[in-house]
Amino acid sequence: MSDKKAVCNQCDSSLDEAYNLPEAERKPCPRCGSLSRALQISVSDMVELRDQVRLRHKVPGRSRPQAEIVSGDDLHRKSGIWMRLSRVIDRGKNWYEEKIVNPSTGKVEHHQSHPLDEHVGHGSAKFKK
Ligand SMILES: [Zn+2]
Repeated sequence: MSDKKAVCNQCDSSLDEAYNLPEAERKPCPRCGSLSRALQISVSDMVELRDQVRLRHKVPGRSRPQAEIVSGDDLHRKSGIWMRLSRVIDRGKNWYEEKIVNPSTGKVEHHQSHPLDEHVGHGSAKFKK
């Protein structure tokens, strides 16, 4: 789904008229008087179909959350496919778990779980050698 909107080709004002209106039926742009039109396609609703939930378990007096849970849609950059991601970072139990499932095939594309202090490659961990 996409939202097609007419915009003025001269000054980029969005116009309250059908994007495919013939030139003879157009009214001059209220801002600059131009009859030239451009088509603007909004793809914002594509983004809204994706959702991700992030939970943070904060402990008073500590700056970093004790546990973080991320669950939801995640764009896999290599393949361009939206995957189902669940990630748990539990500092209290020193545990890291990440699972990525392809929702169309049900295949587990990636799964790792190990003690958090062995985790390398994300965030501040990558600066440690
Ligand atoms: Zn204009």
